[in-house]
Amino acid sequence: MSISQAIEKIEAQYAHQPEFVQAVKEVAITIKPLYDAHPEYEALKIFERLVEPDRIFNFRINWENDQGEVQVNRGWRVQFNNALGPYKGGLRFHPTVTQSVLKFLGFEQIFKNALTGLPIGGGKGGSDFDPKGKSENEIRRFCYAFMRELHHFISKDMDVPAGDIGVGGREVNYMFAMYKNLTRESTGVITGKGVGFGGSLMRTEATGYGAVYFLESMLVTQKEDIKGKKVLISGAGNVSLHAAEKCIALGANVITVSDSRGTLHDASGFTQEKIDWLKAQKEQSKPLAEYVDIFGGEWLAKQKPWPIKADIIIPSATQNEVDEDDAKQLVENGVKYVVEGANMPLTAEAINHIRLHQVHYAPGKAANAGGVAVSALEMSQNSVRQYDTFEQVDERLKCIMKDIHDSAAEASEQYGQTKNGYIDYMAGANMVGFKRVADALVAYGILN
Ligand code: GLU
Repeated sequence: MSISQAIEKIEAQYAHQPEFVQAVKEVAITIKPLYDAHPEYEALKIFERLVEPDRIFNFRINWENDQGEVQVNRGWRVQFNNALGPYKGGLRFHPTVTQSVLKFLGFEQIFKNALTGLPIGGGKGGSDFDPKGKSENEIRRFCYAFMRELHHFISKDMDVPAGDIGVGGREVNYMFAMYKNLTRESTGVITGKGVGFGGSLMRTEATGYGAVYFLESMLVTQKEDIKGKKVLISGAGNVSLHAAEKCIALGANVITVSDSRGTLHDASGFTQEKIDWLKAQKEQSKPLAEYVDIFGGEWLAKQKPWPIKADIIIPSATQNEVDEDDAKQLVENGVKYVVEGANMPLTAEAINHIRLHQVHYAPGKAANAGGVAVSALEMSQNSVRQYDTFEQVDERLKCIMKDIHDSAAEASEQYGQTKNGYIDYMAGANMVGFKRVADALVAYGILN
């Protein structure tokens, strides 16, 4: 079956899973030159095998709220592919979580993880539980209840979860505690743990910093400097605030962050002091809008950052947060670089539009791979039972991000996708990630 026939089959079979179909199509369309050069892939039905997860666990979570009422949520773990190593990928707690969303995230994770060059397969999980408005005690009870179910399906050499939207250090620690309690094992079964009891230094910063390291490589390739560039960032979570922090440290002018209620615009630019304030505010789940009373700037209720003029955007909130109209506005405003901090933040139409206008575009699976890369470094620190320093991890992260950039750029060139100096990072990254997994599957024969 050719790639286009496989897409048609997926579209028909999974019409009810639009995010998953969107993610599959993006990869399928761009790997064609690689697929054509490797007839063994089609002979062994590699693409058809890769779009079907190895297995999906779907479970119920009962927990008790502060009023003593029983609450019921759904949970999932998608073990997508373990050709390169243990299933690896985060857990998302958000009301928008469905099987489709977790399948799209798990599918992306296979190639992202392959791009890091580290021995990790792809997986994802989570729940439709909404942490918003929940008390500390409710969060803790939910995390315990979630792990009580999930622990049956994971282990340190088989499937290693981590955080994602709605799951940060606090939640990871609660889940780790429950895993240890149930299994009496102290292993690196989940990453993003607290530093001092298994966590790696720099895991918190890694996704945001890594995205900016990727951006730096893009800028160097174009003989440009990050200093003085205007940057729009969306989101105000872990990825956004650390991407902002690194941009600022390198001399860029970050002027927005946002959340589901609106956008915070500070035309004078954020400073480290302002970012520290924002981190503390978010940690206490307090409104971003209060910033304006202290530091000035403007609060744009219910608006996204994209109409504001800038050179670079780093969408770091969630999937499909930049649509075609936003993309048109960005192009009109002269934005030159789009670096995805989140997973699939641009719709397919938005991607087409910016690529058509030669906006340099770093897809999430390349640009935000720094988080999972440091998770893999946490796994190896746990295995050898030794910790690396902040500087050691940072150095490894810089090398990994440069490597992802360079291999994607090389593949774009090798397969004829670089045109007039415009590097197709999307095609390049998809082909590099796909090839690493596909070659392992070919070597294994028809198992996996
Ligand atoms: N959730 C993150 C991602 O999307 C990190 C996953 C991990 O560290 O395993 O890549």
